[in-house]
Amino acid sequence: MPGMRSLWQLSGQILRKQKPSVVSDYSYFVNDLAKGRKPSPLRELMKMLATASSDIIFLAEGLPHGDTHPFNEARFSLKDGSHITLSGKTLTSALQYGPTEGYPQLLQRLREFQERFHNPPGLDDRDIIATVGAQDGLCKMIELCMDFGDPVVVPAPTYSGVLAMLRPYRPEFLSVKEDKYGMCPYKLRDELNRYWSISHNSMLKPPKFLYLNPTASNPSGTVMPIERKKEIYEVASDFNLLILEDDPYYFLHFDDKEPQSFLSIDTEGRVIRFDSFSKVFSSGLRLGFITGPRPLMQVVEYHMQASVLHTSSLSQVIALKLLDQLGWDGFIKYMENIREFYMKRRNFMSEVAKKHLQGKAEWTMPDGGMFLWIKVNGVPDVYDMVMKRGVHGKGVMFVPGHAFMPDPTLPCPYIRASYSLAPLEDMDQGFARLAELITEEKKLHLK
Ligand code: PMP
Repeated sequence: MPGMRSLWQLSGQILRKQKPSVVSDYSYFVNDLAKGRKPSPLRELMKMLATASSDIIFLAEGLPHGDTHPFNEARFSLKDGSHITLSGKTLTSALQYGPTEGYPQLLQRLREFQERFHNPPGLDDRDIIATVGAQDGLCKMIELCMDFGDPVVVPAPTYSGVLAMLRPYRPEFLSVKEDKYGMCPYKLRDELNRYWSISHNSMLKPPKFLYLNPTASNPSGTVMPIERKKEIYEVASDFNLLILEDDPYYFLHFDDKEPQSFLSIDTEGRVIRFDSFSKVFSSGLRLGFITGPRPLMQVVEYHMQASVLHTSSLSQVIALKLLDQLGWDGFIKYMENIREFYMKRRNFMSEVAKKHLQGKAEWTMPDGGMFLWIKVNGVPDVYDMVMKRGVHGKGVMFVPGHAFMPDPTLPCPYIRASYSLAPLEDMDQGFARLAELITEEKKLHLK
């Protein structure tokens, strides 16, 4: 009987010859635990209620009565002088349980959003679910795919929040180095070929997905150009991988126009996209959304039916009202302002880095996002320097690069500095302290 590996290689070769290979069997990506998830009867009724005629007599769900809510009105005054007021039926529904996939009017807006910004092929075959930030959507998607010991494809470095989801599975990390445009397609192909060429193990498991954070990557700040996305998509297609496109910084790039996403080129139904309002409206709203092929989104929904029930109705209604108030043109203008805000901070941090770290460290100018990814020269492992002597001795805090590496026990010379929040004068001070730290650290190693 042929082992899994040879079967899979064979199917890989067939896929390569018969491109384009539209994904037809999503159950292949779903683990046994997730296959065991069934629709919750009560949650399915809730879904029916959302679309039922207004004269239906509803004696089904245990929804608390709106008259018991202590709130009469919620009023948000916006920085542009306008207001959002929630009252009456709108406030009642914002304070009530809702359908698991999301507040219906918001979902409609989000569908328009995807059409407007990504216009993916076959949007009608994709579902959108409002999630508790991008983080929860990612977590649910990863939990749906992973089995213990599975291989996973990630960029190096990788967003630490995703490593935290993956580590408990003790996966084999197939990590692919980034250059200034993000993950390199040829390195990705090499790594997958290397994995499949391991001849001593005939029971190799296929990696099911590739995780990417293509715009203003956390921590490296790279923005992946569309040409590269197309190449990576081709590799994913050759190796039958889903692409988890985690894109919360999509509007925080420092280019003239929005990047073209993986979702927008997904002719084969292998992209699951994670958007978030955290970086643009408010991270405390805990609101994001996941867009993907219907069969996979159904499993995510069943998971949510059993876990959070749904994302906060209040957060969803606030976001909906804000989107309605802005309109799409206003939304784009709003994003431009946010971009400009962070770009000024990026420029400032880059100046103070030049002022203090010249010769002591290397970095590339981030093309978006909130972070400067710095390689310290002459200090092969920065952990103690950052966590002990930095925090306790110098009173300055950075993230040691280990947090973004699949194997955090290996020495790492990188640190992540964030320009999103600190007052500008603190940035200057912070980098002056970092420069001293590096000088002292090198002396320590010379002793
Ligand atoms: N992905 C990346 C790359 C992030 O940086 C973050 C936030 N730090 C998230 C996902 C989670 O975002 P959210 O607040 O939408 O859950």
